Amino acid sequence: MPPIHQLSQSLINKIAAGEVIERPASVVKELMENAIDAGSTRIDVSVAQGGLELVRVVDNGGGIPMEELPLALASHATSKLTEADDLFRVGTLGFRGEALASIAEVSRLVLRSRTPNSPGGAEIEATGGILTTPAPCGCPVGTSIEVHNLFFNTPVRRKFLRTTATEFGHVSEAFTRIALASPHVHFTLRHNDKMVFEMAAGDDWLDRIAMCFGRELADSLIWVESVEDDVKLSGYAAHPSQSRSHNRMQYFFLNGRHIRDRALQHALGEAYRGLLLVGRQPIAFLAMSMPPELVDVNVHPTKLEVRFQDSGRLYSQLLAALRGKFLTTDLNTHVHTPDADSIVGHDADQAFHMRQQLVDWAKGKVAEKMASGQWAATSTEGPRFGVQSLRLTDRKETEEERENAISETNPKSQILNQQIPSPLPPPSALQIHNRYLVTETEEGVTIIDQHALHERILYEHLRERVAAGRVETQNLLVPEPIDLSPAETAAALENRDLLAELGVKIEPFGGNTLLIAGYPAMLANMSPCEVLRAILERILAEGKQPDPRDLLDELLHTIACKAAIKAGDHLAPEEIASLLQQRHLVVDAHHCPHGRPTALVFTREELDKQFKRI
Ligand code: ADP
Ligand code: MG
Repeated sequence: MPPIHQLSQSLINKIAAGEVIERPASVVKELMENAIDAGSTRIDVSVAQGGLELVRVVDNGGGIPMEELPLALASHATSKLTEADDLFRVGTLGFRGEALASIAEVSRLVLRSRTPNSPGGAEIEATGGILTTPAPCGCPVGTSIEVHNLFFNTPVRRKFLRTTATEFGHVSEAFTRIALASPHVHFTLRHNDKMVFEMAAGDDWLDRIAMCFGRELADSLIWVESVEDDVKLSGYAAHPSQSRSHNRMQYFFLNGRHIRDRALQHALGEAYRGLLLVGRQPIAFLAMSMPPELVDVNVHPTKLEVRFQDSGRLYSQLLAALRGKFLTTDLNTHVHTPDADSIVGHDADQAFHMRQQLVDWAKGKVAEKMASGQWAATSTEGPRFGVQSLRLTDRKETEEERENAISETNPKSQILNQQIPSPLPPPSALQIHNRYLVTETEEGVTIIDQHALHERILYEHLRERVAAGRVETQNLLVPEPIDLSPAETAAALENRDLLAELGVKIEPFGGNTLLIAGYPAMLANMSPCEVLRAILERILAEGKQPDPRDLLDELLHTIACKAAIKAGDHLAPEEIASLLQQRHLVVDAHHCPHGRPTALVFTREELDKQFKRI
C-alpha cells in the first residue's frame, strides 16, 4: 500500500460534494432551502436541460454582504450555527455550511447578492472550486445563484445521470416538496424557458396541494389534526377511493422540512388497513411541528431522514389521529368529487362494457366476415362474451371458417357456409361458489377457475391483435387532463413514443398535468386516466427504462385481468358454455397470464383410486 497522506482540500470537497450533490435536483433543493432560510417571499427556479446545463434560483430574501461572499462558498462556513448546542435546536433548513461549497466544487457557479440596506450588489464566481474576488454589480435585493455545467469536472458522476426528462422529474419533485412545505412563499419553476409551475402565495395548504397535484386529488382529502403536549400534527389524508401502487404520494413535513420516515409511513399504512385493496398505498400530506430539541436532524447528509427522541409516541399519535378521523367520517359519502363515491358501482358496469368491447373485437374478422350467414345474428341482449363466434369448437375449424369467409364470392365457401352443421351441444358445467366451473371431460373431471380462464382468453386475443399491429388509437374529442406526480409526469413524457406504440397519445400541459389526446380504441370503456396510470405504475416500478415488449405484455395482462369476469360473478348457462368453448381457442388455456393454473384435472382413474374402486 502507498504511504498515508493528507488529501488536498479540493479532493476533500469533491468527496463531500458527492454526499450532498447527487444530481441537478440536489442543487435545486439546496438553493431553494437557502432561499427559504433567508426569509424570501418569492423564489424563482429555472433550469435548462433537466438542470445539467443550468440551475438558477433567484430569491428576494435577506441577501449576503459583499465581504461574506467568499465565506458563503467556503466549506464548513454557515451563518446558521455558532455553538455545538445549536445542533440540537436547528430552526433552519440548512446548518452544515457545506452545500454552496460542494456545488461550487463541481460546477461553474455565479452568485449575485444584495442586502436590503446596501446601495448595490456584489458578485462572485467559482469554477471547480476556484473563486474570483468579489466585485460590485447591479442587482435587486436578494440572492441569485446560477449553477452551470454541473459535474463538468467529475465525469464519472455525470455519467450516472439519466435523461433530461428523468432529471427534470427529480428537479420537479424536489421543487414540489419545498413548495408544499412553504405555502406562504410564491414559487415558479421554468424548464428550458417554459413555465412549468406558478404558485401564488397563500394561507391555505389545500390550495398549495391542489397547485401541485390537481384539484381532484385535493378535493378527496380529509383534514386530520392532533395535538399532544408539544407535538402538533396536522394535514390531509386521502379518501380511500384515492390510492396509488407506490408510497411516493406520502409527504411528511417536520418543522417545515420534508422528511422521509419509515415508521410514519408504516403508521399511515396501518391506519388504512382494511380500507385499501392489498398492494395499494395511501396518499397523505402531513405536517408535524415540535420543539427542535425533540428531534435530531443531523443524521443524514441531505437531512432527508431525522431521528425523533420519541418515535414510538409519534407513531401512536399519527395512527390514533387517522383512525379516530376515519371512524368519525362517513367514508362512503365524504368525497366531494362528483363521481368518486360511485366508483364501486361504476366498476361492475364498466367491466361489463369492457368485456363486451373486448369480445367484439376479439371476434374480429371472423364475425365480420361471416356476417352473411347464420352466424351473424348478434343480439345486444346476448351473453356477455358473444356466444355466436364461440360455436367454433376448435382451432382448426376456426381457421377453415376464416378462409371460407374471406372469399365470400367463392361458391364453395357459400355452400360450406350453409353446410355448417348445427353447433355441437355446449359442454355443460356446473358453476360452484360463483367462481369455479366443474365439467365432465373424457378423462375425468376438470375444475376451472372462471376468472383465470377468461383472463387468459382475453389476453391471447389482445396479444394477437397487438402483434398484428392493430392497436388503433381513438382520438379524444376533448383531450382529457390528468394530474400526475412529478416523477410520473417525467416518466410519461420520456416514454412518449412507447406510449404511442400502445395507442396512448399524450401532450404536456404545464406543471404535472398532461393531456391524454388519444388512447387504445379497444379500451374505449376503460377510463383513459386509468390506462395511463396503470402503464406509468409499471414504468416506475421497473426503475429503469422498460423493454417495450415487456411493458406491452404487462399492460395486456393488466387489461385482461381488469376486463375478465371476476370470481364471484354469477354466470348464465350460455355464458358458461361460451367460456368453455372459447377455451379451445387460446394457445395456453391451462394458465392465466399470471401463471396460476386455470384448471385442475382429476382423471377418472384417480377418482376410482380415491374411492377404492381399483
Ligand atoms: P448552510 O445553508 O448549511 O448554512 P450553505 O453552503 O447552503 O450552508 O450556505 C452557506 C451560507 O451562505 C448560509 O449559511 C447563508 O448565510 C449564506 N446563503 C446561502 N444562500 C443564501 C441566500 N439565498 N440568501 C442569503 N444567504 C444565503
Ligand atoms: Mg444551505
